[in-house]
Amino acid sequence: MTTDTYEIIVVGGGHAGYEAALAAARMGAETALVTIQKDTIGRMSCNPSIGGIAKSHIVCEIDALGGEQGRLTDYTGIQFRTLNTRKGPAVQATRAQCDKNAFPARIQAVIDQTPHLTVIEALTTEILVKNGVFEGILTKNGQKIMGKAMILTPGTFLNGEIFIGMQKIPAGRFDEAPATALSHSLRKIGFTLARLKTGTPPRVHIESLDYKKMEIQPGFEPPPFFSRAAKNEWKMFHVEHQAPDDAWLRRMFHVEHVSPAMRPWKPGTDQIPCYLTHTTSETHAIIRENLEKSALYGGAITGTGVRYCPSIEDKIVKFASRDAHHVFIEPEGRNNDRIYPNGTSNSLPEEVQLKMIHSIPGMEKAVFIRPGYGIEYDFSDPTQLFHTLETKLVENLYFAGQINGTTGYEEAAGQGLVAGVNAVLKLRGEKPFILQRSESYIGVLIDDLVTKGTDEPYRMFTSRAEYRLLLRQGNAAYRMFPHARRLGILHEEVQAEIQEEMRLIDREIERLDVQMEQGVSLSKKLRRPEITYPQLHGAMESLDPGLIEEIEVRVKYEGYIRRELEQIARAGKNESVGIPPDFDYDAVRALRFEAREKLKHIRPENLGQAARISGVNPADISILSIWLKKSRNALP
Ligand SMILES: Cc1cc2nc3c(=O)[nH]c(=O)nc-3n(C[C@H](O)[C@H](O)[C@H](O)COP(=O)(O)OP(=O)(O)OC[C@H]3O[C@@H](n4cnc5c(N)ncnc54)[C@H](O)[C@@H]3O)c2cc1C
Repeated sequence: MTTDTYEIIVVGGGHAGYEAALAAARMGAETALVTIQKDTIGRMSCNPSIGGIAKSHIVCEIDALGGEQGRLTDYTGIQFRTLNTRKGPAVQATRAQCDKNAFPARIQAVIDQTPHLTVIEALTTEILVKNGVFEGILTKNGQKIMGKAMILTPGTFLNGEIFIGMQKIPAGRFDEAPATALSHSLRKIGFTLARLKTGTPPRVHIESLDYKKMEIQPGFEPPPFFSRAAKNEWKMFHVEHQAPDDAWLRRMFHVEHVSPAMRPWKPGTDQIPCYLTHTTSETHAIIRENLEKSALYGGAITGTGVRYCPSIEDKIVKFASRDAHHVFIEPEGRNNDRIYPNGTSNSLPEEVQLKMIHSIPGMEKAVFIRPGYGIEYDFSDPTQLFHTLETKLVENLYFAGQINGTTGYEEAAGQGLVAGVNAVLKLRGEKPFILQRSESYIGVLIDDLVTKGTDEPYRMFTSRAEYRLLLRQGNAAYRMFPHARRLGILHEEVQAEIQEEMRLIDREIERLDVQMEQGVSLSKKLRRPEITYPQLHGAMESLDPGLIEEIEVRVKYEGYIRRELEQIARAGKNESVGIPPDFDYDAVRALRFEAREKLKHIRPENLGQAARISGVNPADISILSIWLKKSRNALP
């Protein structure tokens, strides 16, 4: 048996895994990324698309903290769109279609060029724990890898089983073996695991569809990017008519050497259209007739599925009165013959899937490359975690991604970054990195998971955030800036640029407040719905459109923003009342039994978190608050 030692071990090379490993290595920790197959690092298990409502906010926050997913998307994207353009700034979102092969190739190239990061190809079978502290891992090929901390990100692989109709195959993903021993190891340590499910549509051949029967959906120009790097490169090219040099790309990409895989094409060029079609009454009839053959409805799958991204069987049963559902025809890449028919995820037998697909306009002659399937897997109850994503059961062991009950590349990546950073901070004895609900969607995500848990795959929505107007995509860099500066993952040049932007915005808003025109301040004028910033007297012509948008939002929504800030200040009082980790809830006799049990299980870190636990009511919080005050006063 060979033994290696690292400071940080990351198990799993998915979206949580690459962010965790890169964050740890970029903070200077010797990091090993242990994953089953090197060439599947960064693979997109389902459709090659990043972003969408609220998910895009997470990607912007990751980029603002120095993470990778935004750049990865922008530099391998084949189509970029803005969603909710007719709605307010808080809920507008970016969605990009990526090249399914270029995306993993780029992250693998970045990892390859990241100092302090080693990739080990192995299947982890056991987690070694000594006296409640993480010690190391064992792999299937007999290797022992020791580490000071570990981040576990196995996605859908834990005891994974895929279903095509009644056919059941043990797998972590299509054609990839599951991680069964690791699941046993987690149960043996004492973790509570349960089952969830998700699914994916069939893939069809690009040339077998009739696009004339569909509605074209082109990309947006200029492309709405996620990352500062791509936005700057676009500006450099189109405004300054310059191409970026290698040194600039090295700094922006955080790598020692820029390889062609990191920038396969100029970001945003030659966008590829998607198409829109729909199911028909015939599609619905085929599904209804064959429901008992579906793994989901025939009883083979028992885990709970994604409520907001349901399978086609689910849609037909739950929305029986609708006679059509959208099907988005999404290409999987530039030189790729596969189409992802988004909206047709199912677990029906292959012959039924084919019949169903052939009943959709434009897909009458569709040729299957691969059938759709459902997948059921183990996940760990996320209330077993602290906000740092460290487990309560084993010190220095962190969980991130789908293992915590979430679904989505973005949710996984956000957690990976937080876990990677916290693992390093803890080893260094530094203050943990905890994002608040009032400052970020990643904060909302993690607080929801560790406080409320989940019994269905959790995906992010803007409705989950209390302070939506403050948590916009456009201000992610400014919201995250204090954290980015402290963590040091973001390049100094980028930090300086953000600081300059914040100064420019503040100064310009100040000017609009004091400068009068015909007795009315410019900011008051800008608050009129029909007035835009460029129409104002003395508007700065050279200002970047992103900064103009930020100024307009802050001025036009000033009253609403102030109200949200006041709410945060009020709620902040409870957030600042810490609860000792060993607090004796049994001693608080006045607490109701349910509240006491829930509080003992979650062990909230402060009174604010305690108030968000389901089953704990305001009266319980008042009682707890009095006790905490009393115990603080009793301290010598
Ligand atoms: C069929 C399917 C359909 C999906 N549909 C959707 C959807 O419609 N919408 C959506 O938002 N999300 C969907 N997802 C989920 C999305 O793919 C995940 O949320 C996301 O990939 C999770 O990221 P992760 O890093 O947690 O895990 P993954 O991306 O799954 O990565 C897990 C990694 O861990 C490695 N690994 C696993 N076990 C071990 C081990 N024992 N030792 C070493 N390495 C290990 C794997 O090789 C892999 O690299 C779907 C997933 C699947 C499989």
